Amino acid sequence: MSFSTEDTIVAIATPPGQGGIGIVRLSGPQAWAIGQQICVPPAISAGAGKSSRQRRIRSHHLYYGRVVDPAGGVAVDEGLIAYMRGPHSYTGEDVVEINAHGAPVVLRHIVALALALGARAAEPGEFTLRAFLNGRIDLAQAEAVADLIAANSEAAARQALGQLDGQLSARIQTAQEAILRAMAPIEASIDFPEDEVPPPDRAELAALVATAQMITADLLAGAAQGRVVREGVCCVITGRPNVGKSSLLNYLLRAERAIVTPIAGTTRDTVEETAIIGGVACHLIDTAGITATDDPIEQIGIARSRTALAAADLALLVLDRAAPLTEADRRLARELRDLGFGTARKLLVVLNKSDLPAQVDAALATALVDDAGPGDAIPVHAISVLTGAGLAELEAALVAALGGPATEGAALVARERHIAALRAAAAALTAAQTTLHEDLPLDLVAEDLRDAVHALGLITGASVTDDLLGAIFSEFCIGK
Ligand code: GDP
Repeated sequence: MSFSTEDTIVAIATPPGQGGIGIVRLSGPQAWAIGQQICVPPAISAGAGKSSRQRRIRSHHLYYGRVVDPAGGVAVDEGLIAYMRGPHSYTGEDVVEINAHGAPVVLRHIVALALALGARAAEPGEFTLRAFLNGRIDLAQAEAVADLIAANSEAAARQALGQLDGQLSARIQTAQEAILRAMAPIEASIDFPEDEVPPPDRAELAALVATAQMITADLLAGAAQGRVVREGVCCVITGRPNVGKSSLLNYLLRAERAIVTPIAGTTRDTVEETAIIGGVACHLIDTAGITATDDPIEQIGIARSRTALAAADLALLVLDRAAPLTEADRRLARELRDLGFGTARKLLVVLNKSDLPAQVDAALATALVDDAGPGDAIPVHAISVLTGAGLAELEAALVAALGGPATEGAALVARERHIAALRAAAAALTAAQTTLHEDLPLDLVAEDLRDAVHALGLITGASVTDDLLGAIFSEFCIGK
């Protein structure tokens, strides 16, 4: 990762593959000059009129033109080119965006022309890194760009947009200001003798620290939901073969994704799809039923089921209400209990095929999970995927188990990195309060407050190292 902003970088900014439009983006001191050499008005490329370099280009205007190879004058494409003069651009530098046809060969050719004219291929996230280095956005906002691009639900996109708008940064700044206002009189009392500067009022200091504590606690309180909205949740649909797992998955996806057949054990591999349930991206994994088998292919499927179960936030145990419970059901219930479902992790029990005469009632199903662990709180839902009975109620229970519907603006913090920094800040603030309370020397308080400011600065980027920057921006794709 290069932290220099002296050179001009270029990359294809649109996703790989064919499309109606593809955009090549240039940023840096030579962006406009390179843009004007490779994009010329049609009249000039046809050999008439002034040289393109004599045209006065206006910032934030779109120009129609031809993309030509300046070496031989050969036309590459035609399209629209946008010039944006820094600092009023995405990166804060001079930027050019060439909107050409979305053909990978054409876009690569345009990049090659820019490289031949002295630009350098941009690294992943380098455009956004430059926006950060040029002070146009802070680190939390840069991360929000990555989150917005990767958003897998509308709620996740709204959350990222809030962060991009600076909502998180503003809260962090308010906390930092309160801490700095507490630090200033302490530093003054340390630097100057008592007869020049009156000693700070400990109660006033404590109130300022409490303000910062409230903000960090508030941000941390919303973090769990923030993470769920940003990352989604992992939900495993498990049960012995033929109970209706694939049918349920298809219902939740509202699409025929898994193959449904009446032959036991036909879903040989795990099937993974994402459904938006209650506004949250729910990664649904339909497992190959966990059952003893000698078939090597089914064994691979079963191993994958176990891996999926180990990583899941929630499990749906599907039972066939129209057939007696089997040893396989019991074994699976035990396995789920051992993995912490029903205690540390959520478990819902589903009795499918309620349209057929019942052979298992809710009490029996409860006993199954009770047998396996504390089942009182584990809800049992009778459904029929065939007729649709009970499905709406099951979905509502699923939403509730996922932490309720995603609420707008409820959370500003969603990243592990931010959570860790907030926890560190909260710990330093608690230490400062204790020191104040116990009438210990104020320079000890100042030390804790400095730690808190530093920890909060990690979120906005005021106290980050190049290594951390490299790690954060490398998760972007090229062109962003
Ligand atoms: P899986 O092996 O657990 O994934 O089960 P499938 O979803 O493939 O379903 C197995 C069989 O049960 C299929 O023939 C489905 O049509 C049938 N099935 C699924 N749900 C219901 C239901 O609610 N009622 C009835 N009567 N049959 C169902």
